[in-house]
Amino acid sequence: MSRELGETLHVRDRVAYVLPDVPHDAPAAVREGIARRRITATGGQCPCGARMRRPSRAERRQAQRTGGQLVVDVRHESDCPAVTATLTAAVRMWRAGGGR
Ligand SMILES: [Zn+2]
Repeated sequence: MSRELGETLHVRDRVAYVLPDVPHDAPAAVREGIARRRITATGGQCPCGARMRRPSRAERRQAQRTGGQLVVDVRHESDCPAVTATLTAAVRMWRAGGGR
């Protein structure tokens, strides 16, 4: 995940999600994509049906033993504005002065 779209912080067995606010001056595609990512990151269901799958106990233990990172997978539908590639492109277009 790019820092602009949020960040995951790991401290021992604790995980924190740092999520951007929804920028009110952004184009609708950016606002909607960020809002949907916030919904799934906080345990809700995206309008496309995607949910964050919590890592299993075995996955958490494995990560703790090996010092590896847990990868949390959220599978949005391909036409969802929260898809990383779609949202990243919308943010870039907005930052470049377009995307309204
Ligand atoms: Zn979605």
